Amino acid sequence: MGAEKKAKGPITGMEAGLSVCHECRKVVPVHGENSQVRCPRCGSSMHFRKPESVTKSWALIITSLILLFPANFLPIMKVDYMGAAQYSTIMDGILYFFKEGSYGIGVVILVASVLVPVFKIVGIMMILLSIHFDIKSWLEHKTLMFRFIKFIGRWSMLDIFVIALLTGLVDFGFLSSIAAAPAAPFFCGVVISTMLAAEVFDTRLIWDAGGGKEDGEVDAGGSMDGQDDLDSGL
Ligand SMILES: [Zn+2]
Repeated sequence: MGAEKKAKGPITGMEAGLSVCHECRKVVPVHGENSQVRCPRCGSSMHFRKPESVTKSWALIITSLILLFPANFLPIMKVDYMGAAQYSTIMDGILYFFKEGSYGIGVVILVASVLVPVFKIVGIMMILLSIHFDIKSWLEHKTLMFRFIKFIGRWSMLDIFVIALLTGLVDFGFLSSIAAAPAAPFFCGVVISTMLAAEVFDTRLIWDAGGGKEDGEVDAGGSMDGQDDLDSGL
C-alpha cells in the first residue's frame, strides 16, 4: 500500500521489496503483496503486513464491546450469607469498598475492571478508524498508545484476582461461601478478545497511512524516530 507515496526520508523495506521474517528476523526479498514466499532459514511464511489484521482486529474489538455489557451489568460475585444468596455486579463491589472506606481496593477494581477495558476498546477502535479514514496525523502518539494498550493487557485480570483473594478472606464464619457469578466468563471474554485484537493488529499499518512520515514531521533523527522508521519499513 504506502509504496506509491515516496517518503522524503530513506526508503522503507516494503519499497525496497524486503520483508523481515516474523519468527527469526531474517530479511528476505519478497516480490508483490500476496506472494507465497517462505523464509529460507526457518520456513515460516513471509508477508509485508500481518494478513487481514485490520479485519481480525475489528472482529475481536466488536466482540469485546458486546461482551462488555453483560460483564458489567450481570452479577460478578455471589455471596451466600447464612443461606441467602446475594449477587453483586462490578459496580456494586466498587461502591461497597468505597462505602467501607477501603478506597485502595475500590480504585484498583474501578481501574482494572471498568476504566482499562473501556480505554483499550476505545483506543484500538480509534486506531482502526484512523486507518480506515487514512488520517495521517498523530502517528507517533497512536503508536505509543498502542504500545501502552499492549502493556496494560497483562494486568487486566487483576480484579478476577481480587475476587479470588476475597474468596480466601471471606470464606469462613457466617459467610458460608463466595463464588464467581455469570458475569465472570463475559469479563474474561472481554479481556481475552481485547488482548487478541491488539495481538493480531500490525502496528506498521499506522505508519502506512502516513506514507511512513507524519504530517509536518521534523527530521530530528532522535533514536526513537529512527526505531519507528525501522519498524515501519520492515
Ligand atoms: Zn525465518
